[in-house]
Amino acid sequence: MEFHGTAKVNRLGHLEIGGVDTIELAEKYGTPLYVYDVALIRERARAFKRTFDNAGITAQVAYASKAFSTVAMVQLAAEENLSLDVVSGGELYTALAAGFPTERIHFHGNNKSREELVMAIENNVGCIVVDNFYELDMLKDICKEKNTVIKVLLRVTPGIEAHTHDYILTGQEDSKFGFDLQNGQADEAMKLCLDDKNIDVLGLHCHIGSQIFETTGFILAAQKIFEKLHQWKKDLSFDSTVLNLGGGFGIRYTDEDDPIPAAQYVEEIIAEVKKQASHYSMNMPEIWIEPGRSLVGDAGTTLYRIGSRKDVPNIRQYVAVDGGMSDNIRPALYQAKYEAILANRVMDKPEETVSIAGKCCESGDMLIWDLPLPRSGDQDLLAVFCTGAYGYSMANNYNRLPRPAVVFLENSKDTLVVRRETFEDMVKLDLPFKEKVKN
Ligand SMILES: *Cc1c(COP(=O)(O)O)cnc(C)c1O
Repeated sequence: MEFHGTAKVNRLGHLEIGGVDTIELAEKYGTPLYVYDVALIRERARAFKRTFDNAGITAQVAYASKAFSTVAMVQLAAEENLSLDVVSGGELYTALAAGFPTERIHFHGNNKSREELVMAIENNVGCIVVDNFYELDMLKDICKEKNTVIKVLLRVTPGIEAHTHDYILTGQEDSKFGFDLQNGQADEAMKLCLDDKNIDVLGLHCHIGSQIFETTGFILAAQKIFEKLHQWKKDLSFDSTVLNLGGGFGIRYTDEDDPIPAAQYVEEIIAEVKKQASHYSMNMPEIWIEPGRSLVGDAGTTLYRIGSRKDVPNIRQYVAVDGGMSDNIRPALYQAKYEAILANRVMDKPEETVSIAGKCCESGDMLIWDLPLPRSGDQDLLAVFCTGAYGYSMANNYNRLPRPAVVFLENSKDTLVVRRETFEDMVKLDLPFKEKVKN
């Protein structure tokens, strides 16, 4: 198995990330523990940005913060000159708490509340990605009331299917997101925007899916959008300045995944947009993209302590860890696959095939099926790779398991960026119904 980023085996046979021994991290911070290879996040971000810069294209690379939204991560995104996507008041609040430049924040979501829109406008976010007529109505109303102009993109569904797991498809016609590009909805939305002096519409947005391994979907989406933009230029004299093609760039969770480099996505997208713009004699728009998973996914590793074991003779060896669907719900939700090793015995040869179970009261709480491992015992440390995206951000307190801590690793330094929840945190929001029972 190939390691990601700075991960390697040290001379003790331990997994080391960012120059730090993961065994020491588990002792210092406890388990389960999310650790991030900060240098790898920087490298991923720079690969996207560099390709646009080299091509001389005006672009924004917006980190889709829903993949992993914490103050420290947002600060790292700011340091790397990324823009930021938020999809809720909570993510926006996190960005503000991190001091992220608000003009580089883009506000998404298919059911933004009035309060969220007001919060976004009052904090001068760079743009709002309008999803539907209900939102557009509210937005016009709020802007009129405040006598202010807001920049928007219209989110459209171009009718493209990205080849990926069905549950995470969003670009096809039957989707809860966006204005349909074919059936007249997008035209109507555009006219409503152009008729309103408080709405400054910059262009279109689409996001065709997630964990995509080819450029075809992006190319087709760009083509469909340009057809529409060309029509609007003729019929409505609308000149688009921004084309946002969303995120969804795939990463390698296991050897079954074969992602293409960031540079290749970006180069092929640029080439197509140039081609379309020239074909229709239109101005070259700014190109915005929104990687989430591909910036943080393979930079994250979860460390677990191994505990109990159940042998179902001739069928399966279950090995349980001290976390599970509470810190990584993706296997249960999407049948997502992961690779893992014993972090304290990296060089040991696999001796058995085991299935890694979580500790939640749910048969579906399995992290990995059929994983070759050395014979493991309690107190061995399991490292599950590629948990950096949609791990912590989807973590929950099922069975009242406190959410793990998060540690950033870089240049042989470990920095705690999210503290571990405590049992007191578990009851922090609870209010008594009766006086405490005394025995
Ligand atoms: C989720 C999402 C992204 C990021 O998707 P990844 O698969 O994490 O890259 C980008 N844009 C929008 C609108 C999204 O909803």
